[in-house]
Amino acid sequence: MDTRRDFLQKLGASIILMQLNSLKTFGQSLNPVPHYDDGKVLRVAIMGLGGYATRVAEAMKACTRAKLVGVISGTPSKIESWQTKYEIPTSNCYNYENFDAVRNNPNIDAIYVITPNALHHDQVIRVAKAGKHVICEKPMALNAKEGQEMIDACRKANVKLLVGYRLHFEPRTLEVIRMRNAGDFGKIKFFQGQCGFVAGDPNQWRLNKALAGGGALMDIGIYAINGARYMVGEEPIWVSAQETKTDPIKFKEGVDETIQFQLGFPGGAVASCLSSYNINHLDRFFLSGDKGFAEMQPSTGYGPIKGRTHLGEISQPIITQQTVQMDQMAAILLEDSKPVVPIDGAEGLRDLKIIDAIYQAVKTGKKVLLNH
Ligand code: NAD
Repeated sequence: MDTRRDFLQKLGASIILMQLNSLKTFGQSLNPVPHYDDGKVLRVAIMGLGGYATRVAEAMKACTRAKLVGVISGTPSKIESWQTKYEIPTSNCYNYENFDAVRNNPNIDAIYVITPNALHHDQVIRVAKAGKHVICEKPMALNAKEGQEMIDACRKANVKLLVGYRLHFEPRTLEVIRMRNAGDFGKIKFFQGQCGFVAGDPNQWRLNKALAGGGALMDIGIYAINGARYMVGEEPIWVSAQETKTDPIKFKEGVDETIQFQLGFPGGAVASCLSSYNINHLDRFFLSGDKGFAEMQPSTGYGPIKGRTHLGEISQPIITQQTVQMDQMAAILLEDSKPVVPIDGAEGLRDLKIIDAIYQAVKTGKKVLLNH
């Protein structure tokens, strides 16, 4: 997948533009996004200049409606190199101590929080209090209680909260959702979501309970949870789950290595999912109804997403997911455009409630009912 990703990212700007142009037509039919005839652009500052932030920043170069204009980091040398690379003025640079002052900066509209999971709650609330819209990476928080507090803080501050669910704008994913809504698969009976890779460095924050809030489930199992919901098109009403741990040294107490979980939906569909930090080549969704099926593999990577249904290959355009995500988020934040699949704090909270229930089911060995 990395090779394909690298290849895609090396494509010239002209090809990316071509893809975006074809997506514009596609996007308008599925997801009416306003034109920016008035030249209005979402001015974004990124908080946390790590691996994923770098990917987002690079993808944003091709955005037409969102622009990277600021950074928040604890490392002065990183700020300096980002300033040079992305032409960021010093007046739009902050650190973790002083970023509340963004309140007085009229040149930043939104802050994209891309830090380790445990920091999201406090950082999002501080951004909200500073009066800026917030985009927060997944998982939105460590648990549903934190998620609710973040939603409340944003509501109180009258700012919008979005979660970085890039696949909600991915054309092939949206095509499966369109087909399901059109009844092409008939009554949905089953979903399978498998998300896993072997986590390398044992010292990374993702394997530190205090910073990650858990293990594979928080990081990638969430894709199977979120995917089950947007593929089946319903909210689950129960959860059961089982954990397997083969390496308790690497995956310490509270850091899950592998969890299998099942979700039950009100229409009778069931989902069977696998989340693992110790199994490679797991990136697959399968949706089955009484009239047909969809199979996506890869289903959640950076692309290209590949899929087929009982009617044939899914051939929607391949795009740079974060470019489209940021352009569409600009439309949501500036123009109140409505995405096909929700991307707001309430959407993030639904996943957190299921994560809480999965951990509870692992602990108790019992089925957990979900209240919405
Ligand atoms: P990373 O380790 O590459 O970057 C994290 C950044 O946060 C670093 O720049 C680090 O310096 C900074 N940071 C600030 N305070 C820190 C602290 N107390 N401890 C450690 N680092 C601190 O991680 P990443 O892969 O960029 O992940 C960041 C977030 O983005 C996570 O929430 C992750 O789940 C999410 N993410 C989302 C996607 C996606 O596809 N949507 C992909 C990767 C990561």
